[in-house]
This record gives sequence, C-alpha cells and structure tokens, in this order.
Amino acid sequence: MPSRVRRAQYVMPDSRFLAGHHAVVTGAGRGIGAAIAMELARVGASVTLLGRDQKRLDLHADLVAKAHGVETAAVTCDVTAAASVAEAFRVARETFGPPRVLVNNAGASLGAPFSDTTLAMWNALIAVNLTGAFLCMQQVVKDMLEAGAGRIVNIASVSGLKAFQMVSAYTASKHGLIGLTRAVAAETAKAGVTVNAVCPGYTDDTGMVKYAEQNLMASGRTQEEARTMMLRTLPRGTFITPDEVAATVSWLCSPAAAAINGQAIVLAGGEP
Ligand code: NDP
Repeated sequence: MPSRVRRAQYVMPDSRFLAGHHAVVTGAGRGIGAAIAMELARVGASVTLLGRDQKRLDLHADLVAKAHGVETAAVTCDVTAAASVAEAFRVARETFGPPRVLVNNAGASLGAPFSDTTLAMWNALIAVNLTGAFLCMQQVVKDMLEAGAGRIVNIASVSGLKAFQMVSAYTASKHGLIGLTRAVAAETAKAGVTVNAVCPGYTDDTGMVKYAEQNLMASGRTQEEARTMMLRTLPRGTFITPDEVAATVSWLCSPAAAAINGQAIVLAGGEP
C-alpha cells in the first residue's frame, strides 16, 4: 500500500561542491587563513591566496594544489591599500574568473589599555580588520550580484560581539566588521549572495595567540598562567583549531547554508 507520509528528501551535498568555482582567501599564507585555503581546495575550489609575504604564499599555494588536485594562485596583496587590493583582484579574476567565494581573513591585533592606545594603533587595526574587508568586498560584490550567486565570509572574532579588556581598537574593528557583514547581507539577500561572519575564540597555534600569550607574559605571568587565562574565555576549556574555523567557513560556502545570511557564528565551544 502506498504510504501517505511524505518524507523530506535530504540530499547530501556533493563533497566537491566548489569544483569549477574560484575562492579568494586573504591572509592565506599562515594561521587560520592557511587552513581555510586548504579546506576550500578540499571541496574543489580553485583558490587564490592573498597576503603580503609572497614566498610564504607560494609555498602554501603549492601545498594546497598538491594536496587536493586543484589550481591555486599566490598573489601579493596588502589589504589596507586600495591600489594593492584592486591589482590583486584584477590578477585573481584574470587567472580563475570572477570569485564565487571571498573569505576576509587577514587581520591583526594589538593589546594595550585604552588610555595607552594611540591613534596609530587604532588606525592600523581599523585599516586591516575593517577597511581591508570593505575594500575586498567592493571588488567582488558586483560580479556576485550579476551572477546571482556568491558567498562572502568575514573572519571576525568573539571580540566582535563581546568586550574584553586591553583590546579596545581590535574590539571596535571586529564589531565594525560584523556591522558591515550584516549591512551588506541585507542588500544582497534576494540575489543569492550570502554574507556571514565567523567569530572564533582564541585559536591555536596562530600568530595572534602567540602575540596574546606574549602580551600576558609581559605583565609577569608564566606561559601556563597566560594560557589558562585565555582558556577561561572558552567554555569548552580547549583552544579552537584553525581546522574548526575552516570547516565552518566551508559549510557557509556549501549549498546546505544557502539560507544562512547576515549571521555572526560563534566558535568558542559555548557562550564566550
Ligand atoms: P595570524 O597572525 O597567524 O595571521 C594573520 C594573517 O593576516 C596572516 O596571514 C597575515 O599575512 C594577514 N595579514 C595581516 N595584515 C595584512 C595585510 N595588511 N594585508 C594582507 N594580509 C594581512 O593570525 P590568525 O590566523 O589567528 O588570524 C586570522 C584571522 O582570524 C584574523 O582576522 C583574526 O582577527 C581572526 N581571529 C583570530 C583568533 C585567534 O585566536 N587566532 C581569534 C579570533 C579571530 P602576512 O603577514 O603574511 O601578510
């Protein structure tokens, strides 16, 4: 007898769902960005790796290409400089076509009490963490809207949602990045282009965690005390890994996440 129950058919996403598509990752030579470039290649994308250190980018681009049998390109880019960003995206577009995916991962942090935070520190962090993402998004949004498809993922931070001491400029830049994410997402929602932010807690073993550790040790703490302090902000009690951040980025770029837009997704193993 035919069943009257209608079952939803869940189709598992193709494991190479970005095959034939171009992904650009900023700050892709090391840390979290390097893991994201590797993961997007694993799901089939041709990846352009952007960063300031060409040698490091070349090495990682080779590694990524060999690991997953995709094409990669390594292009020097300082995301704080409009001309450098325009030229890097011109090269990237010429090499693999208009990007389907942009991951704004390049970022920096500086720690100091607010009263010791200079205008130079403020400008430096706004430039890389916020203006850098703005400049890169400007390079891809028109093409994505025309194509009726695109994914932008901005690597913010739990500091984009919550305040911590000693990092006021970083916190402001990451709050700004989440605001920008939401605003652009509101404009692209009907066009098949999603814009989301991923907000990791302390992610080991990256340049940024080493910097935070050294900063905490500079005020007389041992390395163990410094790491314990950082772990207190992570409810699960262990550091986030670059691969975990990359897996969330990859999911946001997958067909399964088509309805996720304008969100700030926290990776901290709980409420930070
Ligand atoms: P790293 O310090 O290891 O890496 C920073 C990356 O940003 C490098 O690839 C660097 O490239 C790139 N970068 C910095 N400035 C510029 C610039 N002006 N132009 C182009 N690239 C630049 O840190 P993470 O990997 O941890 O950081 C990646 C992102 O994750 C950042 O946005 C950070 O704020 C965010 N994040 C990190 C957390 C952590 O605990 N690690 C927690 C929460 C968020 P290069 O120097 O080679 O040019």
